[in-house]
Amino acid sequence: MSLTGQYDDTNIFAKIIAGDAPAIKLFDDEHAVAIMDIFPQSPGHCLVIPKEPARNLLDLSDGAAAQAISRVKALAKAVETGLDPDGIVVTQFNGAPAGQTVFHIHFHIIPRWDAIPLGRHGGGQADMEELNAQAEKIRAALG
Ligand code: AMP
Repeated sequence: MSLTGQYDDTNIFAKIIAGDAPAIKLFDDEHAVAIMDIFPQSPGHCLVIPKEPARNLLDLSDGAAAQAISRVKALAKAVETGLDPDGIVVTQFNGAPAGQTVFHIHFHIIPRWDAIPLGRHGGGQADMEELNAQAEKIRAALG
């Protein structure tokens, strides 16, 4: 799949934005939806998914990028407040060789603890009860 190819609206994040696939949502507004990553690299791993149909950051409009980064910051702050990690990684992959697996633009927010090693990207599916408990804390911090 090339970096500059056509946007394919059958991807899983397009379905989540449309409400046609399930997700543990943290917020859902005019510009973006935030969800728990179900194959987390660390407890509390979550995603900000801009609603604009763009494959990656290179395709995203400047306006949508600005809206997205303010939400990434707000969610990172809520993760800090809600989960009290020792650090937070923010990542975003463009193209399969860079590690992208879902071809709708999204940003990863990955809390890190000194004692917990980072899991494999796209590793095992998380326990849904644990994900819901983490989501509740993050939502409470979002206010
Ligand atoms: P990327 O490799 O940057 O494209 O990241 C895609 C991310 O989406 C990975 O971290 C996956 O674990 C995550 N993911 C894939 N399908 C779902 C889903 N249905 N719900 C939540 N997260 C998902």
